[in-house]
Amino acid sequence: MDLKRFNILPEFGTNTYLVWDKDSREALLIDPAAASEDIINYVNTNSLNMTAIVNTHGHVDHIGGNKYFHDKWDVPIYIHSADAIKLIDPRQNLSSYMGEEIISPAADRLLESGDRIRLGKKELEVIHTPGHTAGGICLLYDFLLFAGDTLFKGSIGRTDFPDGDFELLKHSIKTKIYVLADMTMVFPGHMEETRVGIEKRENPFVRADQ
Ligand SMILES: [Zn+2]
Ligand SMILES: [Zn+2]
Repeated sequence: MDLKRFNILPEFGTNTYLVWDKDSREALLIDPAAASEDIINYVNTNSLNMTAIVNTHGHVDHIGGNKYFHDKWDVPIYIHSADAIKLIDPRQNLSSYMGEEIISPAADRLLESGDRIRLGKKELEVIHTPGHTAGGICLLYDFLLFAGDTLFKGSIGRTDFPDGDFELLKHSIKTKIYVLADMTMVFPGHMEETRVGIEKRENPFVRADQ
């Protein structure tokens, strides 16, 4: 798999990931934060075939570009069933509190834990990691984990939103992420990459041994 990270919504610092299979050129866009011609151009220049948009959760800074890319590419939108309502409810995706009501087309596929998303000859595994939101997911591909706002380098996602739950987030991280191989690269929804082994040892919010 190849991947490229875009930062198209600087005020939120959301990481949007374009991932693709080198042989088939099939590609997924993970968490389109906003409209971006740069991404359209990159996809065209590299002859990628977009197959879906995947949202790690339904907050506005992760779905704000859904409509734009859905209109451009006519590809389906995937999100966990428990966050699907956020796509079409500006209060639940938090945009109504930020001055501009933003919605997305409705989900085309509702994801559940253990589901697989095809990419070329391989698949990404859906891991349900509730706590930041009820329907937060991580996506695992070999030793690469797209973690959304569940786990960050030296930090974790906020849990002060209506469906946030710190104990649940901690449980998700310990039982679903810290059990992965230490070498697994974590590509979070904000900030820099890290590795599972580093966070297990050093994350001040959720330690593997506590
Ligand atoms: Zn979020
Ligand atoms: Zn976020």
